[in-house]
Amino acid sequence: MMFTSINPTTEACIERVAAFDSARIEQALAAARGASVLWAETPLAERTRLLVSVAERLRTQKETLATLITTEMGKLRTEALAEIDKCAWVCDYYAEHAEGMLADELIDTDAARSLVAYQPFGVWLAIMPWNFPFWQVFRCAAPALAAGNPVLLKHASNVPGCALAIERLFREAGAPDGLFQTLLIAGNQAEALVSDARIRGVSLTGSEAAGRRVAAAAGASIKPSILELGGSDAFVVLADADVEQAATVAAKARFLNGGQSCIAAKRFILVPEIADTFVAAFKAAAEALIPGDPMQPETTLPPLARSDLRDQLHAQVQASLAKGARLVSGGAPLERLGWFYAATVLDQCAPGMPAYHEELFGPVAAIIRARDETDALRLANDSDFGLGGSVWSQDRARGEAFARRMQCGCAFVNDMVKSDPRLPFGGIKHSGYGRELGLLGIRGFCNAKTLCVQ
Ligand code: NDP
Repeated sequence: MMFTSINPTTEACIERVAAFDSARIEQALAAARGASVLWAETPLAERTRLLVSVAERLRTQKETLATLITTEMGKLRTEALAEIDKCAWVCDYYAEHAEGMLADELIDTDAARSLVAYQPFGVWLAIMPWNFPFWQVFRCAAPALAAGNPVLLKHASNVPGCALAIERLFREAGAPDGLFQTLLIAGNQAEALVSDARIRGVSLTGSEAAGRRVAAAAGASIKPSILELGGSDAFVVLADADVEQAATVAAKARFLNGGQSCIAAKRFILVPEIADTFVAAFKAAAEALIPGDPMQPETTLPPLARSDLRDQLHAQVQASLAKGARLVSGGAPLERLGWFYAATVLDQCAPGMPAYHEELFGPVAAIIRARDETDALRLANDSDFGLGGSVWSQDRARGEAFARRMQCGCAFVNDMVKSDPRLPFGGIKHSGYGRELGLLGIRGFCNAKTLCVQ
C-alpha cells in the first residue's frame, strides 16, 4: 500500500510513500517500548530540554514546514506559519510548567506521609487528523512526552509528508530512539494496534465514527482514551451585542482554515432584534473572501483538503436546501482547478436539515433564527455535539450567565472559540471526552498514583 500526498490547489501528486509492512510496525512497537523504560527514568529537566530544542527547530524551519503544510493540505500559508509558531509555544509552555504540574501533591492523612505522584503510563498511540497537521500532533505530544511517555503517531493518510517531517524534527532535536515515531499505517491497522500490550493509551482527534471505533477498542482492552471529535459550535448573538464586531469575528470563526476546524463556529443563532443586520454583514464578509493559491498572501479562501470532503459538504448543502434552507450566498464548488468550495451562507436552517444537525467541515455557515434569548439557548444546546460555543452581549455578566448554560467543553463570551496551551480544551456529548492542554492536559497522560508511607 502507498500513501499519496496530493496538492489540493493543483490536484497534482506531490509524493508517494510506502506503508509499513508488519515487520516495520513490530520494529516501531519494540523501539517505543524500549524508549518507555528509558524515558520514564529520564530526569524531567532532560525531557523538557528536548521540548525546548524541538521548539527552536520549529522556529528555524518555520518557512519550510509551513510550505509543506500548505502544499499537502491546502491551508493558507499565513495560517500555516501561525500553526508552526503555536506548536513551538506549546513545547515551550510544557517545558516551563511541567515541573510544577507533575510535582508530588502532599495530602494530610493518618499516614506519616501521603501524596499523589504523577507518573507516565507508557507508550501512547496518537491518531491525528490532517486539518492542523502539526498543531494536533504537538498539542498531544508535548504534554505526553513531558510526562514521560513515548508517542507513536498514526497521522491522517493524506499528510504523510507532515508526519515524517514531525518525526524528523524530534530526531534532529536529540530524541532517543523510539521516543517519537511515525507509523505509516491505515486507520483500521491503528485500531487493531490499540490492543497491543505495548500501547498503554490512545488519543484520537478526528471524526465521530473513528472515535467510536477507537474508544470501543480501548474499552475492550481496558486502556485510557482521549477523544477530541467533531463539533457544531453555536455562535449566539444576543440583542445587545455589538453586531458589526460579532459579524466580523463570526466570519473569521467560520472561514478560518477553509472552515475545516473542529472549533469553527458552525451554527449562527440569532435573536430577532439583530438577525437581519447580522446576516447582511456576515454575507458581505463571506462574499469578500478571495479564493486562490493559498501560498499567495492576498488569498483568503483556500481549497478543501480532499475532494471527497468537498463532495460530502456539497451533499449536505444540497440536502439542506431541498429541505427548505434559504441560500444567501455561494452553494456550490468553484469551477476552477483545485478542491475549492464557495463561501456559503444558508439562512432559515431548521431541524431535519443536515446544516442543523451535522458538522459542516468547510466554508458553509448555517443561520438559525431564534424566537428570543431563551429559545437561543435551547437551540444552542439542541445538538449531539458539545465542543465549543460563543455568545455575544455587551453585558459581560449576561454573556457569562448564558455561556455557563451552554452544553459544551469551552465557552467564550464576545470572542471566537480558540485553543490556548494554558487552558484545558475538549468537549462533551459526541464531541468526545478528556481534556488536552493546560494542567488537565498533561495530567491526562499520567497515572495519578496514591502513595502512603506509614
Ligand atoms: P477521520 O476520523 O476518518 O480521520 C482522522 C484520523 O483517524 C486519521 O488519522 C484517520 O486515518 C484515522 N482513522 C480513521 N478511521 C480509523 C479507525 N477505524 N481506527 C483508527 N483510526 C482511524 O476523519 P476524516 O479525515 O475522514 O474527516 C471526516 C470528518 O471528520 C470531517 O468531515 C469532520 O467532520 C471530522 N473531522 C474532525 C476533526 C477534528 O478536528 N475534530 C479533524 C478531521 C476530521 P486515515 O486518514 O488513514 O483514515
